[in-house]
Amino acid sequence: MRTGDGLLVRLNPVAGGLVPMSLIGLGESALRHGNGIMEVTARGSLQIRGLTTESARLLAAEVDALGIDVRSSVPVEIGPLAGIDPEEIADPRPLAERIRAAIEEAGLTARLGPKVSVVVDGGGQLTMDLLTADVRLKAVRADAGVQWSVSVAGDAHSAKPLATVDAEAARDIAVAALRMVAEKGREAHTRDLSERQLASLAGWHSFAPPSVLPDISPPWGEIRSRSAANSHVPTSAIGESARAGLISPLEGEMSGRTEGGAVERHRSPIGLLNLTEGHALGIALPFGSMPAQNLIDLASEAANLGATEIRLASGRALLFLGLTPSAASTLQACAVALGFVTSPTDPRTRIAACPGTPACASGHIPTRAIAETIAKQNPDLLDASLTLHISGCTKGCAHPGAAALTLVGDENGAGLVVDGTAKALPAAYRPGYDAARGVAGIFAALRAQSHQGETVAACLKRLGAAGIAELYRRNQ
Ligand code: SF4
Repeated sequence: MRTGDGLLVRLNPVAGGLVPMSLIGLGESALRHGNGIMEVTARGSLQIRGLTTESARLLAAEVDALGIDVRSSVPVEIGPLAGIDPEEIADPRPLAERIRAAIEEAGLTARLGPKVSVVVDGGGQLTMDLLTADVRLKAVRADAGVQWSVSVAGDAHSAKPLATVDAEAARDIAVAALRMVAEKGREAHTRDLSERQLASLAGWHSFAPPSVLPDISPPWGEIRSRSAANSHVPTSAIGESARAGLISPLEGEMSGRTEGGAVERHRSPIGLLNLTEGHALGIALPFGSMPAQNLIDLASEAANLGATEIRLASGRALLFLGLTPSAASTLQACAVALGFVTSPTDPRTRIAACPGTPACASGHIPTRAIAETIAKQNPDLLDASLTLHISGCTKGCAHPGAAALTLVGDENGAGLVVDGTAKALPAAYRPGYDAARGVAGIFAALRAQSHQGETVAACLKRLGAAGIAELYRRNQ
């Protein structure tokens, strides 16, 4: 993808994990061919930035030489601890594999856009709830054993529920939904399906689906009539109202840059996680990016300490497997020294910041430096109701949605947007180098003026956009 700092390459290893030597090799390729910045996105994809058309080709050859098999078909995503998490309800890997095979068999990859995705969530310690997807399958416990709840177009909260069925029916519904999307063209997503089509999918399980799905998509007429005949099909479960809340699939990745801060609190991948055998140590990249050399150093230390595998996790994290508890604590100390995030309460996990200047040519302000200063000065970042986004320009790559406070760079400096997106008109400006001081003024007022029990978000509302803009402007 073309970005403000040249081409960006996103890699999703098929096997889910890399041996430490592969990550070291990728880091060296990033140094040789890119601008030396590597990223792990909020969805857990690895990105290398600053490539040219020619250097991207060289990088691809080196990825092949490293023996890293990368995903090239429709993403069918599973959690990074799939199959090794003692808390998961079901191992999602077999179902994900069957869906991948069915997609290939139906020839859908070429007919679907690159941002169409499926999530198969077996449950467990690391939630996939925040990931948007065209089709979501989530394992649930039922009297009949494990079932899969199928929903479409959104994250766990906004997706439209269709049905709760066994694995085979879940696969059939997922592939049928993708066929419907493919019929609408490469720009389409499941959010574009009609209520009637969704009702057809919801009713799919209540009659025996063919073992091999038909090649031509709508047997809609057929499905509709069969569906209608099944009056018990809970079409009311397809909440009309949910549509308003839909987030476009792969939000954040659509821009081709590191996604921004999901503010909802879920179990963090950062820290020590118990596995069926042994542990995984989660270490995150601050704001999703790091110089490649730091990643090489961390992976080298991990290899020396006996790590067998490094998995990419959503939340911009790397999970190191195969370490003893004492090796894990040695690696953690090394990560701290290299500037990585090793605690889930690190305030840097609460700020969305794109690369900004100097990494991105479109940037007007040094987003990461501003974010680092704010995080250092405010270790608690007030409370979890505050969303803070720092954007190098109005594109808002790191957080496409609205945030309580957004600092956005433009030719006038660092603008402040209250309760809006980076595209909104700023209410006040400061020079980019001095933006953190303006935010400090707002935070000081929030601390001094918030009422007992009042959240930061509520206090911001009470102070009003004009009052907050004044606080930002005047702090010296
Ligand atoms: S939002 Fe940030 S990363 Fe995106 S184009 Fe602007 S400066 Fe570059």
